[in-house]
Amino acid sequence: MNEEIRNKYEAVIGLEVHAQMLTKTKAYSNDINEYGAQPNTNVSVITLGHPGTLPVMNKKTIEFAIRLGLACGSDIAPNQYFARKNYFYPDLPKGYQITQDKTPICTGGAIHIRTEDGEGKEIKITRIHMEEDAGKSIHDVDVFDTLVDLNRAGTPLLEIVSEPDIRSSQEAYNYVTEVRKLVRYLDICDGNMEEGSLRCDANISVNLKGASEFGTKVEVKNMNSIRNVQRAIEFEIARQIEAIENGEEIVQETRGFDALKGITISQRSKEAANDYRYFPEPDLQPLVVMKEDIEAIKSEMPALPRELFNRYTKEYGLSDYDAYNLTDNKGIALYYEALIQHTKNYKAAANWMMGDVKSYLNEFGFEIHEFPITVERLAALITIIDEGKVSNSVASQRIFPELLKSELSPLAIAEQLNLIQDSSEDTLKGFILQVFEENQAEVERYRNGEKQLTGFFMGKLMKVSNGKADPKIANKLLRELLEA
Ligand code: ADP
Ligand code: MG
Repeated sequence: MNEEIRNKYEAVIGLEVHAQMLTKTKAYSNDINEYGAQPNTNVSVITLGHPGTLPVMNKKTIEFAIRLGLACGSDIAPNQYFARKNYFYPDLPKGYQITQDKTPICTGGAIHIRTEDGEGKEIKITRIHMEEDAGKSIHDVDVFDTLVDLNRAGTPLLEIVSEPDIRSSQEAYNYVTEVRKLVRYLDICDGNMEEGSLRCDANISVNLKGASEFGTKVEVKNMNSIRNVQRAIEFEIARQIEAIENGEEIVQETRGFDALKGITISQRSKEAANDYRYFPEPDLQPLVVMKEDIEAIKSEMPALPRELFNRYTKEYGLSDYDAYNLTDNKGIALYYEALIQHTKNYKAAANWMMGDVKSYLNEFGFEIHEFPITVERLAALITIIDEGKVSNSVASQRIFPELLKSELSPLAIAEQLNLIQDSSEDTLKGFILQVFEENQAEVERYRNGEKQLTGFFMGKLMKVSNGKADPKIANKLLRELLEA
């Protein structure tokens, strides 16, 4: 689209994220809550809503909702009321979902996201409420019929509704990334968008910059990755601007995203929208959340990515970039947390995590819990570098690969492989003179002004010393002898 036209408009986005909770059993029954089981095996009469059955509240769902609410700084409602949301669909055997309509468990709060200017931004949370999922209609397995798998029916969800605070597809991308990170840190959802355990609907409108009101919003569904949330929003913003420029009016409607074509397609308009006939759920009593319950959950909250990020940048002097990458993945962050119990060289520890450790994990497609080197041994490696016993490059190229294979300590490996660095000036001087002897022409050139040959001499020196010359001291001595 024409840059000039695009710049006349501003986009407004609010996201509704559904997170499937990682409880052992479903929201109101003892059915097992697991992804990928044989279809229709985790389905009891309660899930099917047979006459005479009664739902039983799974208390874990409340605990999980409170954890998320506390992490976002939301207010937690003292009383929990439940409502029925009625509609007919083949994958909804009861004919209704139990949800929280007017009385969400959490209101207010915010999620901090990254922004391009590095300032960051708070996206306010409107509400977080608990509800149950429907089953799954499968349209693409059988050629003639739609299949229904009810294993998912009744699994607990958290719906997180944001205020319309998001202004670009990139901010939306960063927001969903933060939500996913948060639910993973809190152990309440696995955050897997491809498997549908984290889902996102995007509400999008555009208005002329400086307008006093937001435009009419359109809701887009069916994005199965964070990247597709971004693509769908990008498309939708352009579509709406074009429509307005052509004198058309935006109608409030629900659209689906076609990931192959990269476009959104109208599904139903506001006029055809469902009336869910909400009413209070008669089979569940209101539930009181005691202050003590909230305190107990608070006292067991894990460290959150934002807190770690702040500590790493403010106390440990790490760059925003390093701190962000370390806290991006909970496993990596926990490994780093454990590592720095054994070394105070925070920067070196971060470099090892971001460098050799991540490369190794990427190469083999491993997660950090599959990483074979304990924090004690990695910290010991950092220590012998700090003590000048081995150089960084020797540690990385020779010792690290051995640590992956053996149980020996880094020092023992260094000794066994004869890698202990020589920092005695006499020995180094011997090596340097040998290098001069073998490269007299270059010495001559250096002395005639080609100072950039220092690198060449260092390379030769490392070779004759078998990589054992302490680079710092060697560099200093080398210059001294060359200038002599
Ligand atoms: P509805 O009543 O249609 O469900 P809500 O007011 O509950 O609408 O908002 C649903 C979502 O839409 C929220 O995430 C909210 O931030 C977002 N939203 C509301 N108004 C707009 C708008 N004009 N443009 C974009 N998003 C919006
Ligand atoms: Mg709403």
